Amino acid sequence: MTSASAPKRTKQRRGEGQWALGYREPLNPNERSKKDDHPLNVRARIENIYAHQGFESIDPGDLRGRFRWYGLYTQRKPGIDGGRTATLEPEELDDSYFMLRVRIDGGALTTSQLSLLGELSQTYARDSADITDRQNIQYHWIRIEDMPTIWARLEEAGLSTMTACGDAPRVILSSPVGGIASDEVIDPTPAVEEIQNRYLGDPSLANLPRKYKTAISGLQDVAHEVHDIAFVGVEHPEHGPGFDLWVGGGLSTNPMIGQRLGTWVPRDEVPEVWAGVTKLFRDYGYRRLRHRARIKFLVRDWGAEKFREVLESEYLGRQLVDGPAPEVPEQPRDHVGAHRQKDGNYYVGAAPIAGRVSGGTLLGVAKAAERAGSGRVRLTPQQKLVVLDVPESEVAGLQSELNTLGLDATASPWRRGVMACTGIEFCKLAIVETKDRAKQLVADLEQRLADITDGITTPISVHLNGCPNSCARIQTADIGLKGQIVTDDDGNQVEGFQVHLGGGLGLDAGFGRKLRGHKVTSAELGDYVERVVRTFVEQREEGERFPQ
Ligand code: SF4
Repeated sequence: MTSASAPKRTKQRRGEGQWALGYREPLNPNERSKKDDHPLNVRARIENIYAHQGFESIDPGDLRGRFRWYGLYTQRKPGIDGGRTATLEPEELDDSYFMLRVRIDGGALTTSQLSLLGELSQTYARDSADITDRQNIQYHWIRIEDMPTIWARLEEAGLSTMTACGDAPRVILSSPVGGIASDEVIDPTPAVEEIQNRYLGDPSLANLPRKYKTAISGLQDVAHEVHDIAFVGVEHPEHGPGFDLWVGGGLSTNPMIGQRLGTWVPRDEVPEVWAGVTKLFRDYGYRRLRHRARIKFLVRDWGAEKFREVLESEYLGRQLVDGPAPEVPEQPRDHVGAHRQKDGNYYVGAAPIAGRVSGGTLLGVAKAAERAGSGRVRLTPQQKLVVLDVPESEVAGLQSELNTLGLDATASPWRRGVMACTGIEFCKLAIVETKDRAKQLVADLEQRLADITDGITTPISVHLNGCPNSCARIQTADIGLKGQIVTDDDGNQVEGFQVHLGGGLGLDAGFGRKLRGHKVTSAELGDYVERVVRTFVEQREEGERFPQ
């Protein structure tokens, strides 16, 4: 029976695990692991115990959890079959070797750092090295016994693997040509360096609900639309050059384009605002369900207005300046080729295929750059490499040396447009092979489409993923290929891809459409891409880019 005086029953909403609302209990196994021991503490155990007692001594919670905070993942056992991983326990896929990610904020390296990365690869990683689409270098075949020496040598050279993975601020993407490009709105480099100096390795920012990806650029060349937080160069009519703040972008499941908060942030305030957003995410981010923990879910639920309000009132203690949206450049940039810098020198971009290089290649690039009078190299978010500060008289010689190293400095649009994630060779989540497939595809397309290559002014991007995750940003490619097992014409289960068509960034920002039933076997990939590209070229209007 109810009466007017009886207290009203309010329906208890299930918490999302937000610390700021009092939900402190760990609500999933990852949160439990982080609460049991801060992941940054694992380094001491690696140095003092595991490196001496070997792989078998590693605690499983460290191995499959906390190691990530230092860029370490177990790699896939060679020969473990694709497509049937669902029937295997994770530990059955573990090799005793590791993938190691070295974070390189902004992809910025001196030639001596690049040489060191090459030497470490040759000494400890069987000459393996991949340039990732987050401007990192990723090694394979790393032994736990070698980690103390690897860290000592990296750190002596000013490099680090700190929070290269894990629920923490990952490497900061930034323009590979920051500070030298003649058309950038503003140089992002001081802001990137200041965030690194002030916050990298801060334990209070290294237990976030989920991974946290940052992009800062004055040139819109870092896929800012799909980052958790991004600062995009913009000219304010009264205050001059600064940054437009975006939050909540991300790929994988439930992909979202980031939202503008409508603010203008001067460069010297970027670190403070970055820290404010990061703390807001730490405190209000969802920790109950892992698949809803990225900041994009909070931004979607709150909206840009509330997000900005909480940021200003609870974290910055002041209001931000309103600001305009940045102008969108007409063409995406990959920095391949020779381009004049502000100071009259040139930067020279070259294209390995899908980021695959080797220790020997890195050493070769460092020497070639130095011979050409340069001391600086950059890795790009398109898995490419750029040598900076090259005098005009040295450009042709450098390009020819890069060509000899297998890094095409005048690459075809197909070589420029293809990206691939790690795939089944080393990744435990993979279903299909990607790196070799990308290499074959580039050679195939260069031959098949030679007759129309001159007419392709903007490379058509083809991104290959080894599984439904989106490490190679398939939803933002003209042709995105998501690895899965498919049925061929003879009824066999074989490696193949689900196709997404018409994704893009910049002017065309939006996600590719998954075409229902549109799947292609790995063996038929060349035929398929040729067909799609020829149809586009035959039917396009003048100046039209790949259709959305
Ligand atoms: Fe591994 Fe999948 Fe990421 Fe590729 S997309 S690296 S297969 S998790």
